[in-house]
Amino acid sequence: MKQLMYIRKGTLEWQEVPDVPLVEPSDVIVRPFVAARCDNDIAYLHFDVNALLRIGIARGTVDPAVVHYLGESPFRGPFPFGHECIAEVIECGEDVRRFRPMDKVVVPFQISCGQCRLCRGRSTGTCSAVPDNSLFGVGQTGGDWGGVVADRLRVPFADHMLVHFPQHLDPVSFASLSDNIACGWQAVVPALQAKPGASVLVVGGGAKSIALYAVAAALFQGAERVDYMDTNADTLAPQRFEIAAALGAQIVESSDMSQVREQYAVSVDGTMIKQGLHFAVRSLEPDGVCSSPSVYYDKELPMPLFEMAMKKATLRLGFGNALESIREILARPNVQDLAPEKVTTVCAAWSEAASAFLESSTKVVVHRDPLAA
Ligand SMILES: [Zn+2]
Ligand SMILES: [Zn+2]
Repeated sequence: MKQLMYIRKGTLEWQEVPDVPLVEPSDVIVRPFVAARCDNDIAYLHFDVNALLRIGIARGTVDPAVVHYLGESPFRGPFPFGHECIAEVIECGEDVRRFRPMDKVVVPFQISCGQCRLCRGRSTGTCSAVPDNSLFGVGQTGGDWGGVVADRLRVPFADHMLVHFPQHLDPVSFASLSDNIACGWQAVVPALQAKPGASVLVVGGGAKSIALYAVAAALFQGAERVDYMDTNADTLAPQRFEIAAALGAQIVESSDMSQVREQYAVSVDGTMIKQGLHFAVRSLEPDGVCSSPSVYYDKELPMPLFEMAMKKATLRLGFGNALESIREILARPNVQDLAPEKVTTVCAAWSEAASAFLESSTKVVVHRDPLAA
């Protein structure tokens, strides 16, 4: 079988390897036919993250907990690349009941067993039956689970992990459902369910597509207004503004985060920087909720805790539980109105993946025909 390997910054390569077999009776082998690049992939595709983190840890600016969660050499190649895909089932272990060959499925990026206490409590992003941070397609950093840009991918705990992909939806539109769409959804939808119709502030630029999927999800969930602001820190900012406007957001052109402009019931920090987090938190109205799908590697990051306490602010961090969000999203009627395809900026043939995933663009998707129409 062929699989796409991350070699080093700026280099992805196809490799011919032996077919991945079924190992456990609860496994399924899938053939991904749509795959997307996650916002976090961009970091090690374009930068030597491993070296930067090591320097940061040595200098005491990066949190040493990074080593515990991401390993001694985070994101060091070579490893099978990719963790966002829509796939078709091609082989089932003997205990698998919910799936059979030719089924179209979403594969959540986090590995979870479905049986442990955390999984039973719906915390599938932190399953206790597998090592911390178990996920596809990031090498040792996530464990040896394989990458999704491959002819075969072994999915463990398949009856629990996999989600049927509805026939009436376009798989290419939902290419990022495994992770980034789910992440954008959970940044706003639970908060809006508690505060129906609230206004939302999304600050993007770091978690590039996730912030835009948060815009889409907030409007889908009936937010009265969504304001989109950006760090404006790279050349793709105009592309993100265009997408946010096409999704229905009001554009805030200033990237000045020194002063709060307005107060919101819900805010999202997708900047990955301290100033963005502070701005999103300080922009909350009383009892407001700030969610952040950003990763902060800082050893210490002071927060305006007095102001947060006075406002009774809630701050939610982390990537959440993708499987739960995927199930929620696909259970919604009219989910096509989420229109995640508006965030996609490069849509390439599967065979072009090695170059397409290196492109400087907001959301890259590759696809090929499924075996079963
Ligand atoms: Zn990801
Ligand atoms: Zn579990």
